[in-house]
Amino acid sequence: MVNKIKILLVLFMLCICGCATVPVGENIATYSIGGVTYYPLATLCDLRGVTMQYDPLTRIASLAKDQQRSTLRVGDALVLVNDNVLRLNNPVDIWQGAIAVPRQYKEQVFDILFRKDVLAHRRAGIGKIKLNKVVIDPGHGGTDPGAIGKSGLREKDINLDIAKRLSSLLKAEGVQTMLTRSTDKFVPLSTRVSIANRAKADLFISIHSNAARSRALCGFEVFYVAPSVSDSKRAMLTARTTALNLKDADFASNSQELKTIIWDMIYTNSRAESIELSRSLCKIMDSSIDADILGVKNARFQVLKGITMPGALIEVGFVSNLHEERLLKTSAYREKLAVGILEGIRDYSQEMALVEMASK
Ligand SMILES: [Zn+2]
Repeated sequence: MVNKIKILLVLFMLCICGCATVPVGENIATYSIGGVTYYPLATLCDLRGVTMQYDPLTRIASLAKDQQRSTLRVGDALVLVNDNVLRLNNPVDIWQGAIAVPRQYKEQVFDILFRKDVLAHRRAGIGKIKLNKVVIDPGHGGTDPGAIGKSGLREKDINLDIAKRLSSLLKAEGVQTMLTRSTDKFVPLSTRVSIANRAKADLFISIHSNAARSRALCGFEVFYVAPSVSDSKRAMLTARTTALNLKDADFASNSQELKTIIWDMIYTNSRAESIELSRSLCKIMDSSIDADILGVKNARFQVLKGITMPGALIEVGFVSNLHEERLLKTSAYREKLAVGILEGIRDYSQEMALVEMASK
């Protein structure tokens, strides 16, 4: 328990100090300002490991990675790319308190200047995954098909196929896995949650495919449990319904309050870890698939609310988008996704090992 708190503290310190990266913006969706698509700059930097320094007085943001530099000013369409000046068609803006850059900057400057993470490639496949058990949750099933593509491709089938692939990949790494369903059957959300909790898994990965009314929408995104779901409230509910199996006799007292405090700590800790997991997944996917990475978001998904271990819900792509539906139909792309998730888990497990080392 003391170790867990230490990990939590180090994680928070990393967030506050910024370390090599800028904290992820909570909402990574793109947005439209005056008909132009904008991206949150902090998130782009986070995905590519770019350092950003911002001076609120001059409103100047300086980006740097390796030998590459770019400087922008909020409200200005002129940007510096290394030593060259470039005029964008639209100015850098602020959206909900965060710096936003127009699509043109992302595509013509950022993506080229700060290439996909070479580090991620280097780390892929290297280093042991230090986890005992992962519960994989293929979304939907049975009478619940989930999203359905134009050609009839069913989300439940994609989810199950990727889950099985991920399971074999993890097993080959010596990690135990458990699927919340391994056939095409309906499993209630509460059952999925209790399977994960009973299994005492280290990690919970829920796999889904997306659908949107706009057929243009495509990409990969990861969700973790929303901060608006109060940890204390969750803790209180769990303390009432779950027996704490702590070996220490002192903890085995019947004090509801003590149990609540302990669960509160476990939940706060697992959210910090879930954010790390989600970031790792997006970072690795960014360098392993061509799809847009929509980023890390939080949500109040029931399946994430109930779990007592770090977890994430992955939306692998949009079946409502014709291009992605075509890709998701192929086993090659599903395998690519499964490998990407595996490498994301590896990256996360290595980050956690570093945190643990730092806290010793
Ligand atoms: Zn779904």
